[in-house]
Amino acid sequence: MKIIPAEFMRHAHHWLILHGRYVCKARKPDCPACVIADICKSAEKTSEMPAPLMELAPQA
Ligand code: SF4
Repeated sequence: MKIIPAEFMRHAHHWLILHGRYVCKARKPDCPACVIADICKSAEKTSEMPAPLMELAPQA
């Protein structure tokens, strides 16, 4: 929690949950689609190359 900037703290736990649900799935992590593959230390990862970041649509 000490490394999460204050402006991201409110939603950080949601992003972690969604990352586990849609990318780093327990039975088969989708490492080629993972934006943190370059810093991940998992022995099970299958990619060293992070997926490109995408621009999000502006929020209303
Ligand atoms: S690179 Fe690491 S964090 Fe990303 S999906 Fe693979 S195992 Fe999960």
